[in-house]
Amino acid sequence: MANVTRDFFIGLSNNKFLNDQAKKWGFRLGAEKFVAGTNIDSVTNVVKELNNCGISCTIDNLGEYISDKSEAIAAKQDLIKILEKIHKEKLDCHISVKLTLLGLDINQSFCMENTKEVLDAAKEYNIFVNFDMEDYSHYEQTMAVLRHFKETYPQIGTVIQSYLYRAADDLEGLQETRIRLVKGAYKEAESVAYQSKQEINRNFIELAKGRLLGEAFTSIATHDHNIINELKTFIEENKIDNSKFEFQMLYGFRTEMQHELAKAGYPFCTYIPFGTDWFAYFMRRLAERPQNINLVMKDVFYTNEDKLKRGPIVLGGIALSSALMLLGKRRMRNRKAV
Ligand SMILES: Cc1cc2nc3c(=O)[nH]c(=O)nc-3n(C[C@H](O)[C@H](O)[C@H](O)COP(=O)(O)OP(=O)(O)OC[C@H]3O[C@@H](n4cnc5c(N)ncnc54)[C@H](O)[C@@H]3O)c2cc1C
Repeated sequence: MANVTRDFFIGLSNNKFLNDQAKKWGFRLGAEKFVAGTNIDSVTNVVKELNNCGISCTIDNLGEYISDKSEAIAAKQDLIKILEKIHKEKLDCHISVKLTLLGLDINQSFCMENTKEVLDAAKEYNIFVNFDMEDYSHYEQTMAVLRHFKETYPQIGTVIQSYLYRAADDLEGLQETRIRLVKGAYKEAESVAYQSKQEINRNFIELAKGRLLGEAFTSIATHDHNIINELKTFIEENKIDNSKFEFQMLYGFRTEMQHELAKAGYPFCTYIPFGTDWFAYFMRRLAERPQNINLVMKDVFYTNEDKLKRGPIVLGGIALSSALMLLGKRRMRNRKAV
């Protein structure tokens, strides 16, 4: 049942019609709980608030799998503006970038040119840039871009997904690189990735402990309190210095726990997405945690005054999308991203 629900929301996240419509709707379905507005000012205001609570941030300019060059160029320009703003306002913040936003699906050299411009700005302002890891079909390319730029731009890093069998081997070659460790958000084949939660969690813990004992900085990105508690104990027992790691969570998730960890003195960083391209990101969050559906139901059916309302576009869109998904399941891309 859980897999059916997951596939359902992944199907919605990949529906082009709904994604395009959602850009026109503005925020709906409670998405504003997980996405910090549509423009640079709105997201940097959230960063300031969190910084005031001792929480560092990473900004994600929403958008992925771009196939139009002008969109990739606009995204690059936005990222440079964000870097300028982080620098000017002295924010405790870095950026997270999906290379498909910068044109990786168009062609690698075009993406490299865009990435280079972003990295030039980041280097000038001394701001860290993280390459988010997308689905496995982009894995080698993302690593290749990282390797290509690593020497000229030491302030870059990427993500390792504990569901991949190769994660431990790849980390061996990344001992000097800042890494975000995650479980992995894509539905990958059994030939490359663990499928069971137990194996993914076990690998996550092993990899995290290995990194904590090593030299380079690690962002431990999970909302899983069991893993966080086990790692907190490990950190204390092994006297791991705060300069070696941080915990990371997504904006809008377990907000109380985020503040508790920061107040307890753990380095903490919130991943904050913003932009009009919120629908796919939001549907993927529902795929991850169907309990969030409560938010959607409330937003679809009730006004802020708790009065019943109708959401014809939304409901029609969801119904249409479900039908499309059932009919064309095979044609749907089986991937999801942060
Ligand atoms: C900062 C950040 C960056 C990420 N970047 C990437 C990336 O670049 N590439 C990528 O593939 N993936 C990325 N991910 C997504 C990641 O791979 C997982 O899909 C996602 O984090 C879900 O796994 P989890 O460990 O957080 O918790 P889950 O495995 O979903 O949940 C484990 C347990 O934690 C508890 N829990 C989880 N969420 C909640 C909640 N909201 N409220 C209450 N209890 C909860 C529940 O008990 C649950 O059973 C990122 C995640 C984070 C946090």
